[in-house]
Amino acid sequence: MINIGCHLSSSGGFLAMGKHATELGADTFAFFTRNPRGGSAKEIDPEDAKALVEYMEKEHFGKLVAHAPYTMNVCAAKPDIKEFSRNMLKEDILRMEYVPGNYYNFHPGSHVGQGAEEAIPMIADALNDAMFEEQKTIVLLETMAGKGSEVGRNFEELKAIIDRVELKDKIGVCFDTCHTWDGGYDVVGNIDAVLDEFDKVIGLDKLYALHLNDSKNPMDSHKDRHEKIGEGLLGEEGIRNVITHPLLQGKPFILETPNEDDGYKAEIALIRSWMV
Ligand code: FE
Ligand code: FE
Ligand code: ZN
Repeated sequence: MINIGCHLSSSGGFLAMGKHATELGADTFAFFTRNPRGGSAKEIDPEDAKALVEYMEKEHFGKLVAHAPYTMNVCAAKPDIKEFSRNMLKEDILRMEYVPGNYYNFHPGSHVGQGAEEAIPMIADALNDAMFEEQKTIVLLETMAGKGSEVGRNFEELKAIIDRVELKDKIGVCFDTCHTWDGGYDVVGNIDAVLDEFDKVIGLDKLYALHLNDSKNPMDSHKDRHEKIGEGLLGEEGIRNVITHPLLQGKPFILETPNEDDGYKAEIALIRSWMV
């Protein structure tokens, strides 16, 4: 069994997201920790956060996979963007303690011409500055499609970041099926080999969550255009092989497909029908 959910709007607060997830047939979900394209964060209501934690327990939810804003780039070349991003990361990791024991996922960043070798130590440094011993959150680096100057385009780059992070038991990876496929890994033809490679390079114990997306583009295209489940180049077979894989059971799977509520509800039902 896996936990399955989708990305939800946080505009109604924490408990509202939990109830919304249930309405869609989900037992996990993702949300942006702050305005995804800006960066401003709403004040957290501790009572509302607590109500969600209790609700999730009662409804047997899996781990949540919060998502950092897209504007966050801790390896930016411009000092002001870098500083702003480092502060967001730090603040977000603190804010996650209101819903303790969940996951916080972020895009490692874009090196914007500086090169991945320059960016990797910057990303690790930002993490070491932001993470703290007592935190209950696991921070996840997302596998990227390698669009533009994205860092995390292959397992080796993620491993190089993880190697430099001090709190090893609080860092992991979120495996995005569209990105990994677009990044050149044959998720459709040989998921066993892809996971084997992941295990050799990073270690499967570091794989905490998945983003479940189909892709509009062929393998190795480095495009990052998500497609609805079963309608892209991963197709039903590719997605089925992922969700039923023995090594991936028990993990939260988050849909980031181009859908509204009705579409998500249908996709969640479809995925569940493939699980049995
Ligand atoms: Fe993402
Ligand atoms: Fe993703
Ligand atoms: Zn994407």
